[in-house]
Amino acid sequence: MEKLRKVRGVHDLLPNELHNHNIVVNTGLKISDKYNYSQIEIPIFEFAEVFTKPLGKSSDIVTKENYIFKDRSEDELMLRPEGTSGVVRAFLNAGLVQDVPQRFSYCGPMFRYERPQKGRLRQFKQFGVECLGLSNSMADVEVISLGYDFLSQLSLLDKIDLKINTLGDLESRKNYKQALVNYLNDYQSKLSKDSLNRLSVNPLRILDSKNEGDKKIVENAPNIIEYLNSHSKRHFDDICIGLDHLNIKYTIDKNLVRGLDYYCHTAFEFTTNELGSQGTVLAGGRYDGLSKMLGGPDVPGVGWAAGIERLALMIQSNFDDKIDVALIARSENINYLLMPIMKKLVQTEIKSEIIYTGSLSKKFKRANKIRASYAIIIGEEEINKKLIRFKDMKLGSEEFLDLNQAIKKIKKIS
Ligand code: ATP
Ligand code: MG
Repeated sequence: MEKLRKVRGVHDLLPNELHNHNIVVNTGLKISDKYNYSQIEIPIFEFAEVFTKPLGKSSDIVTKENYIFKDRSEDELMLRPEGTSGVVRAFLNAGLVQDVPQRFSYCGPMFRYERPQKGRLRQFKQFGVECLGLSNSMADVEVISLGYDFLSQLSLLDKIDLKINTLGDLESRKNYKQALVNYLNDYQSKLSKDSLNRLSVNPLRILDSKNEGDKKIVENAPNIIEYLNSHSKRHFDDICIGLDHLNIKYTIDKNLVRGLDYYCHTAFEFTTNELGSQGTVLAGGRYDGLSKMLGGPDVPGVGWAAGIERLALMIQSNFDDKIDVALIARSENINYLLMPIMKKLVQTEIKSEIIYTGSLSKKFKRANKIRASYAIIIGEEEINKKLIRFKDMKLGSEEFLDLNQAIKKIKKIS
């Protein structure tokens, strides 16, 4: 058979891999719920402008990484590259502006046309939280604490560091941008092509450049902290105090920025050295400008998104698909007697599989392969006795039991 082609950067998730993904998501949902973040589900595609408007024309997501298409009504749609814009759009559409704060969690696939590599896919999943309607710096501390607890419950804290920074408010950022551009102008001939382009459209992004030459230049760039007005400085100081009180360790990284236009004040990232260059596992910040960009009123917000694939690669867990009971008939024409047995087992929360075909020895081979702890075997003799043959697959011992006795044994109740 000719091999079917699969789209690059898009993965199948077989049960053992999905198992780890589910651990990540379930852990996220559980801890978020305790922080009173309720799960919400938003569409996988939206009108493109939901993303293009707030993300801005200069962002990678909009210029290079988007999956935009026209549907049959000629509407321009976009597969969602991230969750925040959709969550805020949903919040506005639901008329929740007067009913703040609102706290949401979400998870699901995102789409970006990127160069696929380990921990970087074109369809990937995020788990995220958003806190809407609070401009208080304690909301920033709250979401960081939630992210910290999430990673702690995944037992990843010793492999992960927290970096924080501030982008200040609009006024502070404007002053800083000017200083940064002045500084970078002297290095125009040395900057990478990408960064040179960004110098006029989004100079802050240059701080984030992965280019070694750029990194050197940026090392001595002006520090945003020195350009913060008193309000912005206070916001940032309060966050540091809040984190200190929680004993959450962090480093201030003056070059940490978020690539998207609507971010302000706090930016943070939890990173690891264990995943090569795709080291950011959870990233977030404050986005007070987003709601307005989407055509809504001013609604402050802060949140984060975590890469599920990256976290799933890091957690230690064994996918265990062993089953309790293999159900075997001595001849295929009495297979139908196995289904009622299975139903009874299902009702008592026992996991079983009926092995329908093959010789008896083939059936036992399969029972071993699926690592059944027990086998229930029926044949003429068992039918006559109105009992089942119950085999302990590990010990090899067999006995005649009625089904209820067998269930008790399986559940280890005497
Ligand atoms: P990166 O610097 O790795 O490109 P980003 O700044 O584009 O990340 P965000 O938009 O902040 O990432 O998304 C939050 C998280 O989602 C990232 O920290 C990462 O864990 C995950 N993520 C982002 N893009 C991808 C991708 N293409 N494949 C897998 N995970 C991703
Ligand atoms: Mg990216």
